[in-house]
Amino acid sequence: MSYVITIDGPAGAGKSSAAKDAARELGIKYLDTGAIYRAIALILAKSEITPDNDEYLREALREITIVLRDNKVLVNDFDVSGEIRTPEVDELASLYSAIPAVREALLGLQQEQKNYGSIIAEGRDVGSVVFPDAKVKFFITATPEVRAKRRYDERIAKGKEANYDEILRAMRERDINDSIRKTAPLSIPEGAIYLDTSDMTEKEAVNFIVNHVREVIPENEAE
Ligand code: C5P
Repeated sequence: MSYVITIDGPAGAGKSSAAKDAARELGIKYLDTGAIYRAIALILAKSEITPDNDEYLREALREITIVLRDNKVLVNDFDVSGEIRTPEVDELASLYSAIPAVREALLGLQQEQKNYGSIIAEGRDVGSVVFPDAKVKFFITATPEVRAKRRYDERIAKGKEANYDEILRAMRERDINDSIRKTAPLSIPEGAIYLDTSDMTEKEAVNFIVNHVREVIPENEAE
């Protein structure tokens, strides 16, 4: 029986790496919903459609096609997987994802991913709005300082420029935007297991998730 696991939480909490590794260990698919919001924000911004331009926005949303293939995001057949990982797109995604029409347009695409087998979905509202019936839900967080340090280390490791204070400032701003928006704000889904990874290694967080999923869904039931 296929099943859905959700992981929600703020930026830099370690959701992506934990979800990716847990998916690999559990032998199921990984769904990065943030990548979908990043892709749509990028294309809307490139088309110079501002968030307040309701008419053009709805028209553009009808015309844009987003496809997820092999953990890549294609917008109108164009692979934007690399382009969406910049601080500018961090902010654009936070801005456009607050618009109800954008969230509505992306809901079906996210939900249909469960038709292709078991998934571990990661985002801000996957346990509350997208997959309220998920078998196991997690909410992963860490202090803003720890999360900013992780993002800083990630960028340095990729050979990119980084400024810790600026990352921390932008992260706090994004936390606030994602939490106060009217539609699907970042919140702890009902029944979610709360995990603070501030003092945990990546491996410890993955083990916690995998062990818990295996307890709830024995392997013979997960075929
Ligand atoms: O997770 P990631 O940092 O890639 O997400 C980028 C932005 O997309 C978030 O700051 C948030 O504003 C938005 N997002 C969302 N709902 C999701 C996933 C991401 O609003 N399920």
